[in-house]
Amino acid sequence: MEKMAIGVMLGVGDDPEESLRKVREVGVNNAQMGCPPDEYLSGEKFEQLKKAIDAGGITITAVFCGFPGESYADIPTVQQTVGLVPPTTRSERLQKSKEIADFADRLGVKEVCAHIGFVPEDSSEPVYREVVEAVREVCDHCAANGQMFGLETGQESAAALKRFIEDVGRPNLKVNFDPANMILYGSGEPIAALDVLRDYVVSCHCKDGKWPTAPGQLGTEAPLGQGDVGMDKFIAKLKEIGYTGYLTIEREISGDQQKQDIIAARQLLEKLRG
Ligand code: MG
Repeated sequence: MEKMAIGVMLGVGDDPEESLRKVREVGVNNAQMGCPPDEYLSGEKFEQLKKAIDAGGITITAVFCGFPGESYADIPTVQQTVGLVPPTTRSERLQKSKEIADFADRLGVKEVCAHIGFVPEDSSEPVYREVVEAVREVCDHCAANGQMFGLETGQESAAALKRFIEDVGRPNLKVNFDPANMILYGSGEPIAALDVLRDYVVSCHCKDGKWPTAPGQLGTEAPLGQGDVGMDKFIAKLKEIGYTGYLTIEREISGDQQKQDIIAARQLLEKLRG
């Protein structure tokens, strides 16, 4: 594999095949895949999807879990709705995570990722132990498939995330490092955070953003190179820690502007990567 090959985050909507075409249109051949609609997880639609991936010559580098009912509107809403933290949806989402891991396995994908939600910083809270147990269960399921489970960064400080990973204590628990999320959630300076988490980072999002301006609010995502991450410093730090994985561009808007921003991001990364 080419070192630091550039790819994209593929937000899969109701038409995964259409989304796959977009990967090629921005000039890359690899992508992380958002969770597709349920009917694509197995059966005839799955075969159709697999054929489209192969025909496009696209490597799927990771599959992301996503769950009905999640909302990223603002920080309190994220705390209440996202990932494996909310107790009322936890068992059904655990089941769904395993189904997504098996779907990824059928595609030959060795990394499954998720936003698991806001893990409390206070490890004496009961919910902390419950989330540790839930993540162990997902890790063990992934391990049986020969997969890693990657935690998306942003909702905790790097130190809190590192302690959580150590408390889970599963060797296949890793990090998908998103520098912009550290900024958007106000969780800490991303380059220093990458240093803290360096032993766990197996994939990353190349995304940019600006710091929040009011408590409880999220910051604002920006085109790559136009936010507060400092893409030159980010790529330099990745090189310093010996990272050789994919550079997956993530731009969370839609339409033609998304495509243009992704192409510009690819060009910027080609330059910075050297
Ligand atoms: Mg991300």
